[in-house]
Amino acid sequence: PSAMREVILEVPKVNWEDIGGQREVKTQLMEAVEWPQKHQEAFKRIGTHPPTGILLFGPPGCSKTLMARAVTSEAGLNFLAVKGPELFSKWVGESEKAVRTLFAKARANAPSIIFFDEIDGLAVIRGKESDGVSVSDRVMSQLLVELDGLHQRVDITVIAATNRPDKIDPALLRSGCFDRLLYLGPPNETDREEILHIHLRKIPCSSDVSIRDLACLTEGCTGADISLICREAAISALEENLDSSEITMKHLKTAIGQVQPSDIQSYKELSTKFQR
Ligand code: ATP
Repeated sequence: PSAMREVILEVPKVNWEDIGGQREVKTQLMEAVEWPQKHQEAFKRIGTHPPTGILLFGPPGCSKTLMARAVTSEAGLNFLAVKGPELFSKWVGESEKAVRTLFAKARANAPSIIFFDEIDGLAVIRGKESDGVSVSDRVMSQLLVELDGLHQRVDITVIAATNRPDKIDPALLRSGCFDRLLYLGPPNETDREEILHIHLRKIPCSSDVSIRDLACLTEGCTGADISLICREAAISALEENLDSSEITMKHLKTAIGQVQPSDIQSYKELSTKFQR
């Protein structure tokens, strides 16, 4: 049995315009991913090397996955995505093999991005095996070996995402591993206006719909919450009348009342604690 379902290679179609706010992170990601490939000589001349891995961290629903896909798409790369917990297999040896296979596939399809979602899932200590080494230890050492092998290559970038950087094995945050940390926080009012524009782009809205007012009313919401609100509003318009051809402010306000904003308070200290 294979340790994980086969990793699908894809070329995402997400553009920077599909992400509201987060301008600073967009620029930093582009620099971290594209510069090393485009300006190899410049890096050599100045005696430095680009980051090996990039860790995107922040509360749920604040565009970590979207960002990884967008930078891949904008830079024209191939995308290989796995979830941290998927790398575990109860079959001895299978998990390390899965990691090796993943990196081999990234090399065969370079230039590429490997995206580890829920990387904190690797820190979970599983039951110890007979020789005393846990599966997560094995996966971790294989991952460190693979990351080490990437130092000479600029055509493969590893991006990881987590809501809980405090749960990540510190070995992964050392220099030469995930040594660039980028925080994706909740949207402010202006960002929410942009996000609302994006999600209402394809939904016909009546003339009473004020994105300004909605941005104000969605205080405390994440991008994922706003996406849900827009979909709910469209559904309630249809529920009201199957012949509806547009949504009104009333539908949106009702949806805002129904959607429970994500709990992002508990993530507040993350940005200052881990930013570097
Ligand atoms: P999780 O930690 O739960 O995996 P995440 O940070 O990876 O969350 P995404 O999967 O990127 O969040 O976002 C979920 C959805 O929310 C996106 O598919 C998109 O529809 C919407 N969304 C989130 N942030 C934004 C944004 N800044 N602009 C536009 N849409 C957004």
